[in-house]
Amino acid sequence: MTQSYADRHSAARVLDPVTMRPTGETRPTRGRKRGKPKCKKCGKEFSSAMISKFCSRECYDAYQDSLLFTKTCTDCDKEFRTATKHKKFCSRECKNKVHRERQQAKRDTRTEG
Ligand SMILES: [Zn+2]
Ligand SMILES: [Zn+2]
Repeated sequence: MTQSYADRHSAARVLDPVTMRPTGETRPTRGRKRGKPKCKKCGKEFSSAMISKFCSRECYDAYQDSLLFTKTCTDCDKEFRTATKHKKFCSRECKNKVHRERQQAKRDTRTEG
């Protein structure tokens, strides 16, 4: 005579083959730890006191780079990266050059008129 389904399952609780504990009673023992920083660039959790907002130097550099604007130099048309939105020149040389040319133009018009 075969046992009924109810008999088989009420006799003993089913044990988890790995933990040897009754299944359904295992609870995650690890609680949420506070204060673990997440990388501002890739969102990865990390544990380093060195750089507080980024998991790695690469992410830090990439984030800094993403903050920069790509501008074209008014004088030499060269593309350059800058943190200043209104910057017009790739270098001080270009700025000085245009500044000098403007001064020159001003002087020319003055002597003309
Ligand atoms: Zn990262
Ligand atoms: Zn330039």
